[in-house]
Amino acid sequence: MALLQISEPGKSQDPHKKSYYIGIDLGTTNSLVAVMQNSSPVVLKDEFNKELFPSIVTYRENSIEVGENKSNDESIVFRSIKRFIGKNLEDLKKEHFYSPCDYLEENNIVKFKVFEKLITPIEITSEILKHLKNISHETLAGEIAGCVITVPAYFDDAQRQATKDAAALSGLKVLRLLNEPTAAAIAYGLQSKKISKVMVYDLGGGTFDVSILDLNDGIFKVLSTGGDSSLGGDDFDNILADHIEKLCNLNLNEESRHKLYLYVKEIKKSLSDNNAVSLNLSKIGLKNKDISITQKDFNLLINDLVKKTLKISKNVLHDAKLEIDEIDEIILVGGSTRTPYIKQMIESYFNKEPLSNINPDNVVAIGASIQADILSGESDEELLLLDVIPL
Ligand code: ADP
Ligand code: MG
Repeated sequence: MALLQISEPGKSQDPHKKSYYIGIDLGTTNSLVAVMQNSSPVVLKDEFNKELFPSIVTYRENSIEVGENKSNDESIVFRSIKRFIGKNLEDLKKEHFYSPCDYLEENNIVKFKVFEKLITPIEITSEILKHLKNISHETLAGEIAGCVITVPAYFDDAQRQATKDAAALSGLKVLRLLNEPTAAAIAYGLQSKKISKVMVYDLGGGTFDVSILDLNDGIFKVLSTGGDSSLGGDDFDNILADHIEKLCNLNLNEESRHKLYLYVKEIKKSLSDNNAVSLNLSKIGLKNKDISITQKDFNLLINDLVKKTLKISKNVLHDAKLEIDEIDEIILVGGSTRTPYIKQMIESYFNKEPLSNINPDNVVAIGASIQADILSGESDEELLLLDVIPL
């Protein structure tokens, strides 16, 4: 009897080299990648044991780097490129966008002048995707046969197409784009429970998104979305930096202020796990003062912004024609929801304990990896997923 080895197109010919299907959370502030291994999702780490990769792309004369940029050399640094993708100049001007270099528009496409070359947001985004693909390739030691990439529920056709174009440029085959809130609901396995109305509250670094989903027999309908594209953890950092500057009577130049801003991020994060944190200003080259910041201080500082997010959430609920008590679950997504005060405020405002046991930094990538696994045909679970968005 002759055995024929048949391999599907796109799948590896080499029987020893496994094919992997990855899930990518392409974030405004951070991006990450996850994969299903032995039926559980795993977030992949790079050689430095990092799993959250700042969505920052640095161009130098002869090289391109993805990640935090610590050097002060001649370079052009793109942050939050997700805000540019699939948009023309007219759209961007409405949003008071920031560009690190000169730019122009050709055939409705924004192009940045980077060392005599013209580079598009799609190309810059493809560098982030390439980085994630390389990390996956190295840690899994296999072929990356396909991926699911998440996008905000409010992304329009042009933004979705541009994301796919960036993936193609990076050499990734996109099985599907998935809405970020839907990915979060999948990560919690809500599609297989008798749960139908879900609110996804996503507070990241620079953006706040809230969505109401209706899960019904494998059809995920986004009933309504809303948010604020310039509200997030960066604002908390600025408010805390202002507070410390005043409290310590500091009069900082631009460089020291930037150092304080970066230091304050650490303080903010440790305030998520501690009741108080004492300042160590000598860490950023300033004279130390005997001052500590308490969780209570921080809560007061961010109170107005947190209330603003709750009001927006209520309006989005209203747009979906739902009452608070009709929501079955609330899911917390985004690094900023690790601030305990935010969780508390959501719980008391909606009178329901939100789901937060999956790390809110990872939950979207995890959902994407589950979906990628299902679409690859290698999973036992069948999830006919129709991800419907409102016009
Ligand atoms: P995005 O989806 O926009 O890429 P993320 O979900 O990665 O953003 O969130 C990044 C934000 O989360 C940053 O403002 C960061 O400071 C904040 N953050 C991360 N960890 C914590 C923490 N432990 N406590 C409070 N904020 C945090
Ligand atoms: Mg995000």
